[in-house]
Amino acid sequence: MKKKEDSKEKKQRIILKEIEGMFDVAEDYAKKDMKIAVNNVKKAKRIAMKINLKLPKRLKNKFCKKCYFIFTPENCEIRIKNKRKTIRCKNCGTIKRMCL
Ligand SMILES: [Zn+2]
Repeated sequence: MKKKEDSKEKKQRIILKEIEGMFDVAEDYAKKDMKIAVNNVKKAKRIAMKINLKLPKRLKNKFCKKCYFIFTPENCEIRIKNKRKTIRCKNCGTIKRMCL
């Protein structure tokens, strides 16, 4: 059984790399064409869900969970208050809170 576990982890690691690559592409496109960026984020999320992979925080914090917009200085408002960081998506108004 242990062997199977190992290969599962290995697979997840490989897919996580792919997902990170997709986020890189999405971030590039976020400045030029948000539609393509959003599609990339959606695709990446779908792949992650398929194998029950939790997106790491560093990826989750890159996009709006509601409209999948990649956060750029133009489309979000970042506020830091009481050691908490809030990001407000200017596209759909969703507020994301995180601890610093
Ligand atoms: Zn949004």
